[in-house]
Amino acid sequence: MINVTDIRADFPILSRQVHGKPLVYLDNGATTQKPLCVIDKIREMYCSVNANVHRGVHFLSQAATDEHEASRRTVQEFIGAASSNEVVFTRGTTEAINLISSSFCREFCKPGGEVIISAMEHHSNIVPWQLQEAISGIKLRVLPISDEGEILLEELENLISSRTRLIAVTHVSNVLGTITPIEKIIETAHRYDIPVLVDAAQSVQHVPVDVQRMDCDFLVFSSHKIYGPTGMGVLYGKEKWLDKLPPYQGGGEMIATVSFEKTTFAGLPFKFEAGTPDYVGSTALATALKYISRIGIENIAKHEQGVLAYATEQLLSIDKLKIYGTSKNKCSVISFLVEGVHHYDMGVLLDTMGIAVRTGHHCAEPLMRRLGVEGTVRASFAVYNTREEVDVLVNGIRRIVKMF
Ligand code: PMP
Repeated sequence: MINVTDIRADFPILSRQVHGKPLVYLDNGATTQKPLCVIDKIREMYCSVNANVHRGVHFLSQAATDEHEASRRTVQEFIGAASSNEVVFTRGTTEAINLISSSFCREFCKPGGEVIISAMEHHSNIVPWQLQEAISGIKLRVLPISDEGEILLEELENLISSRTRLIAVTHVSNVLGTITPIEKIIETAHRYDIPVLVDAAQSVQHVPVDVQRMDCDFLVFSSHKIYGPTGMGVLYGKEKWLDKLPPYQGGGEMIATVSFEKTTFAGLPFKFEAGTPDYVGSTALATALKYISRIGIENIAKHEQGVLAYATEQLLSIDKLKIYGTSKNKCSVISFLVEGVHHYDMGVLLDTMGIAVRTGHHCAEPLMRRLGVEGTVRASFAVYNTREEVDVLVNGIRRIVKMF
């Protein structure tokens, strides 16, 4: 078991007050707070290592390069990739999906080719493909979900055809918390030689992820949702795919030689990393991943499942409260509405009590339409959240309901 009191002490922001009340931070789906070791790493990098990477012969440039490349190996180990060449640093999940949609469609999609996504994707796994509908002439197909918020797996084979080029699905829904049957989707797709991109923005921080065991072709996530810094993310891709994809952006770092007649590109992973990389971000992300590994992702999952179960039970004891997303296979995300209280009002009033939740469409407007709502209130838990904080949330909601 984990010691939450000790863990909370690692996160300086958790001891602050908001509106004169102790902060109850339940917006971890949007971004997690950062432990001191991550904050210290950023300071250490700027105080004693800073220099541009990869191209300097001097001491600091070598040291920064060593740290940056060691961080790539830390990510490789964390997600179980076969090689660090398969780990590309990006600005986040959004940039990683844009990279794949752009490079993949350019190389492998002709007009009429199809990409399958699910009905519960974040906008960042919808809009890049819609841009490609205009650029490459692909068509988007949507895998439906049940009222409980589960992917209708039996519909997948009906959607797959000789035109299907790629399947891009989320591992965990940022709204419903549903853990999708990703291994089954991948297994089915591979029977038809179709590659799969996994949006792991909401999963890597909650459940063990092993890309080789999962056998996904691409997997993306954001550092800031896994206790790391903002502006940093990861694209994992099997070498056999990344090798075949054209570069996404041009510039320094991503070339072998440049002439006005012919330019050749660097090997993996640098082909996809044009310009000065965020070497401070990568080292701070690696620090976050090591922090998680010390606690143990299985221990984190167990703790969060306990908080999720308790929160679900307590919330359901509130009259006229409905939870959206009732799959048995869930991560620590709860979307809900209380009849007669607008989600925005609920969010604003909870905030006055020091409770941070998210309200609105959660960048998943098509899913809101499927659920028949305009928005929800979302409480999302991390390793440092406690049952006592759930009690504060539930009491807060009860007080608000009384006001209405
Ligand atoms: N996919 C999912 C499932 C998400 O929850 C998010 C962030 N809310 C994203 C993609 C986009 O991540 P980012 O904004 O860090 O690029």
